[in-house]
Amino acid sequence: MTESPRIDAILARLERLRADDAPTHGGRVLSYVYDPGLAELDELARRAAAAVQSLNGLDPTTFPSVARMEQRLIDFAAGLVHGDRLPSGERAVGLVTSGGTESCLLAVKSARDRWRAARAATSDAATGNPVVVAPVTAHAAFHKAAAYFDVELDLVPVDGHGAVDPQEVIGRLSERTALVVLSAPNYPFAGLDPVATVAPVAAARGVAVHVDACIGGWVLPFWESGADAVAPWDFRVAGVTSLSMDAHKYGYAPKGASVLLFANRDAKRAAGFATTAWPGYPVVNPTMLGSRSATSLAAAWAVVEYLGTEGFAELAARTRDATRRLRDRIDGIGGLEVVGDPTGPLLAVRADPAGPEPDRVDPHLWADRVREHGFVLQPQPGLRQTGGPELGHTTHLTVTPVTHGVVDELCAALGAAADAVRGTPPIDLSELPTAIPALGEPGRLGSDAAQEILVSLGLGGGEGAAALPEQLAPVMALLDVIPGDRAESLLSELLARLNEAGTGAD
Ligand SMILES: *Cc1c(COP(=O)(O)O)cnc(C)c1O
Repeated sequence: MTESPRIDAILARLERLRADDAPTHGGRVLSYVYDPGLAELDELARRAAAAVQSLNGLDPTTFPSVARMEQRLIDFAAGLVHGDRLPSGERAVGLVTSGGTESCLLAVKSARDRWRAARAATSDAATGNPVVVAPVTAHAAFHKAAAYFDVELDLVPVDGHGAVDPQEVIGRLSERTALVVLSAPNYPFAGLDPVATVAPVAAARGVAVHVDACIGGWVLPFWESGADAVAPWDFRVAGVTSLSMDAHKYGYAPKGASVLLFANRDAKRAAGFATTAWPGYPVVNPTMLGSRSATSLAAAWAVVEYLGTEGFAELAARTRDATRRLRDRIDGIGGLEVVGDPTGPLLAVRADPAGPEPDRVDPHLWADRVREHGFVLQPQPGLRQTGGPELGHTTHLTVTPVTHGVVDELCAALGAAADAVRGTPPIDLSELPTAIPALGEPGRLGSDAAQEILVSLGLGGGEGAAALPEQLAPVMALLDVIPGDRAESLLSELLARLNEAGTGAD
């Protein structure tokens, strides 16, 4: 690289900016990052991204390499999930998007537009908006899709173990159903939704089925071992019309790449957007973005070329082993239990409801203690479901290949942290809305009003900035006692103030 004091100085500043970031390597953070533990893969991804840095992925006719890499990535992904030989005899077609959220949004957009077109063609009275039916454990990206695309989300409750009854999903199907979303597995509890039961029935009713395998798509194909069978969840099941799988999760690519597959060409076309109704260049966008970087595509492509099926299988085996050891350890910790029957490298942990109260371990107090041992787990809030049991709060662990190398240390930390908080009751802030009435009222808040509340809670820093607390359990406990829209306002404000405070810093 060109030697230049200015370049060096800027890169040194970047290094300083990164000083407070959580470690992305080494298995210390059990969410957000998916580290295969292969240094050469980082280097490869970096160089592949650099090689296409100046391209615009907007136009593959000008930059044919973009189309070639996309097709290769799509073919490889399709091969993992049996999209290369659909029950119909066809091959799946696909798109490369910027991430799981975009893939989920486009799956909904495609289904919505096809539902509308079908109504228009048969002159059926289109009564109301199209509906997406999904278990409550479906990713929040589908709530976002409903908000963006004016579709209704019909959420099906899960049982106390986080599992959905396929008959309840089937029972929700109606003329208005544009799409059923099932997860393989879902993020909160790693439950594998009953794809094989639901999809054929939906298909018979002409309803599209999206399998959200954003997190499972690149690892579940390698998960089965011995007695550990995984029920069919992919394109082997007739009636699955689309499937999302994130290359930037267990595809081990840097952030910015997901694959969205469709069983049908027209469904893929319906995800896109095209217009000639302006005086500029004809716009043909198969995904949501216009101009787009080819860097994450090239990086994902390079990682897949390097690992191949064997590489993925090896990494999955290591991940599976670490997951099993963690699950066994947690099962052995008095006062805690793993939620439901997870399929894949995720675990949700809750207080054991069967044990006597003095022996219980609150999962959020536990996570804060685990953090003191240098491991970051992810607290998840509880959920009051309509028509189902209340789901208590949990702590989430995403296991990756590098977890294997630290699994003994992590197991010890999980045990020690549980011993430290066993018997301590969960933080109860139910009195707080009485003390601060603005907390208990429903409704969105303006920026200033939200900040005022944050300050009164000790979450507002100086100069209008926000302060993130060391302990997350109190924040999670707060979310538990205030109306959802107010909680969303406060969290948005907290994050926005953190960002805005960051702009001036070096
Ligand atoms: C991560 C995830 C998403 C959203 O993906 P992003 O890449 O974070 O946008 C959707 N569904 C599931 C099941 C996920 O795990």
